[in-house]
Amino acid sequence: MSRDALCFSCLYKDERPELGFNSELIYCMKKEIVVRPKIQCDLYMRTTEEGREEMRNAMYGVISDNDLHEE
Ligand code: SF4
Repeated sequence: MSRDALCFSCLYKDERPELGFNSELIYCMKKEIVVRPKIQCDLYMRTTEEGREEMRNAMYGVISDNDLHEE
């Protein structure tokens, strides 16, 4: 499969190897399945550092300064 496939630059690609990421298979967080890299996909969203951070915050939450000082 070509490295030009959309999945390799998609925000929804999950690179954790235990989820199936390699050159032949990608774990898609949007579809919640392992897929073959796509050259066309209606759900594709180009990844950016900002987008990755938003997704991390949505998944794991954000700790505010107040939360850190409450203990
Ligand atoms: S949303 Fe589409 S392009 Fe993005 S990782 Fe999933 S299958 Fe690939």
